[in-house]
Amino acid sequence: MSSERLIGTLRSALSFIHSRYRLRFTRRKQLEAWQAKQLKHFLQRVLPQARRFKDLTVTDLTDLPLMDKATLMGDFTGFNTRGLSLEQVLPVARQAEESRDFSPTLGDITVGLSSGTSGNQGVFLVSALERQRWAGILLARTLPRHLMPRLLCPWRAPLRIAFFLRANSRLYTTLASRRIDFAFHDLTLGLDASLTRLNVQNPDVLVAPATVLLGLAEAVLAGRLTIRPSHILSVAEVLESADADAIHTAFGVVPQQIYQASEGFLGYTCEQGTLHLNESHLHIEPDWLDAERTRFQPIITDFSRRTQMIVRYRLNDILRVAETPCACGRVERAIAAVEGRADDVLWLPDLAGRQLLALYPDVLRRALLMHGASLQEYEIHQQGLHWQINLRTADDHASLCAALSASVHALCAQQGLQPPALSFGHWQAPPPHAKRRRLKLLQLPEGLPCTY
Ligand SMILES: [Zn+2]
Repeated sequence: MSSERLIGTLRSALSFIHSRYRLRFTRRKQLEAWQAKQLKHFLQRVLPQARRFKDLTVTDLTDLPLMDKATLMGDFTGFNTRGLSLEQVLPVARQAEESRDFSPTLGDITVGLSSGTSGNQGVFLVSALERQRWAGILLARTLPRHLMPRLLCPWRAPLRIAFFLRANSRLYTTLASRRIDFAFHDLTLGLDASLTRLNVQNPDVLVAPATVLLGLAEAVLAGRLTIRPSHILSVAEVLESADADAIHTAFGVVPQQIYQASEGFLGYTCEQGTLHLNESHLHIEPDWLDAERTRFQPIITDFSRRTQMIVRYRLNDILRVAETPCACGRVERAIAAVEGRADDVLWLPDLAGRQLLALYPDVLRRALLMHGASLQEYEIHQQGLHWQINLRTADDHASLCAALSASVHALCAQQGLQPPALSFGHWQAPPPHAKRRRLKLLQLPEGLPCTY
């Protein structure tokens, strides 16, 4: 092992130990004190190294303006401490996408592209040091106790991880080591291409987007896949409860979740199956969407970054808070669900026709769940006052359309909304590497204000 590699492994190991055993807070006040200390150092020492923040004297986080992906991309060079421009880093990222070889870096910097479902693609920079720490933290937060000996005991077989994503990155292959047999599966090649390799590797840990886990569950039930992973992690897409049940049935393991975006490692499920925000590594301000404070968009500050500054960065996601504290005793905020993106929310006029009210993704999904297995797939696109609903069923298409129309009307009556005009069509499978998005607001109804 080269000394550089050894240092990298040690760094990952130290982050692992630090995150797993030291950063466990049992009182919220302790967590907040830790965050305040980290933030202070970050605001005084790290942030001024980026041109954008050079001349600012910031004592409090809230002194800083909000940013989002558009802000970041609008002043790319200003937001990183290496002074790297988009023109310098884009060729590296584009070439990786085209060749499907994700190993090249720019010096020690990995360049990643966000999937950019909304059309505007983000470019993210991570240094070797940040990658090594990330690997340690990710394992510390997600590896169940029964797999720990596989990671730590040199006489045991290494831990086998199979990882499905749209694009690999040095970020992920950092996990590979003598103790970890890491196999990346490229989603653009389709699932069938992976089955043989999966059967040969027989992974202990399976990591994939929810829809891919579903596809693999089907392959298990059809006898084409024989793996028995003891730990399953869903990433990158909303994990719906019906999907979780299907995955559980096929593999005999309840899938857990990693809430990871290009912007950072945002959350993980604990032993109790509750999704917690990764607040010991990120500061997360809730931007509340409703007066009852049940849903928010997270505004994140990653105080552990040293290359690209993610500071009061508003994510496009909608999170629903858990109603009760988690029994595991962690004080990191518990989330009932990552409901989807802000443009997954559909909007309809109230009965008086004075304002638009939000119809949140989980409310709509729950109303459609009552159609059970008959409704195999669906998507709803809103254009003004019109909804296009495309669906797939093994039963009679026309009668399911009529039943769905009745549920949408019933839901609207219950929520005090005017029902949309509906058209129905047949659902077409998206390409294998596309993220599943069932609900999409293409255009708001005109002339009325949105009221949260
Ligand atoms: Zn918990």
